[in-house]
Amino acid sequence: MNVILFGPPGSGKGTQAKFIVDRFAIPQISTGDMLRSAVKANSPLGVMAKEIMDSGGLVSDEIVLGLVSERVTLDDCKNGFILDGFPRTIPQADSLISLLNGIGKKIDHVISLSVDNSELVVRLSGRRTCSVCGKGFHLAYEKPVKEGFCDSCNNVLVQREDDSEITVLNRLQVYENQTSSLKSYFENLGLLTTVCGSGSISDIQMQICTILDSGGAGDHT
Ligand SMILES: [Zn+2]
Repeated sequence: MNVILFGPPGSGKGTQAKFIVDRFAIPQISTGDMLRSAVKANSPLGVMAKEIMDSGGLVSDEIVLGLVSERVTLDDCKNGFILDGFPRTIPQADSLISLLNGIGKKIDHVISLSVDNSELVVRLSGRRTCSVCGKGFHLAYEKPVKEGFCDSCNNVLVQREDDSEITVLNRLQVYENQTSSLKSYFENLGLLTTVCGSGSISDIQMQICTILDSGGAGDHT
């Protein structure tokens, strides 16, 4: 069972991906990890990718697709895989589908975790970290005993630049721009299911199981 998982920052995508990995015993394939290991292994694609990255360029779709193609034919993918962070564009999605087609595989499900922006802003912009020991807190979900200070070492809590409200809104906009057309693309193929990511983690896990247990999209046998 081959799955693509979409979800904005703060949607719990990482948590749910891990759940799918454990529950269905399929690996999570991230393009970043693949690039790093190809470079490390000095494979032909890795050498090409390293040259491009060292010169500050972006690795081409061809290289990434080559890596995906090598990766999904490894033994641990025989029961399926979850793609993480790929595809990001419609041309990439097109190429991915024909690549998989060529090796007798297909995408079975595309799951999109959906959470209201207002909730994502609360989730992300409420994060605080101790400036000294690095312990994490959250203004809504994991408050420090003394406001603004670390429970463990009593030093000042700070907000990461990435989590400031304005940056969060910007990150969410980038996500929306990047994925809205991709989601319609997969919807048109009958592969997309949107899961509300606002409930409890176990609730969302159950919804995901129901979708994935229902077999390949399109073949309701
Ligand atoms: Zn601390």
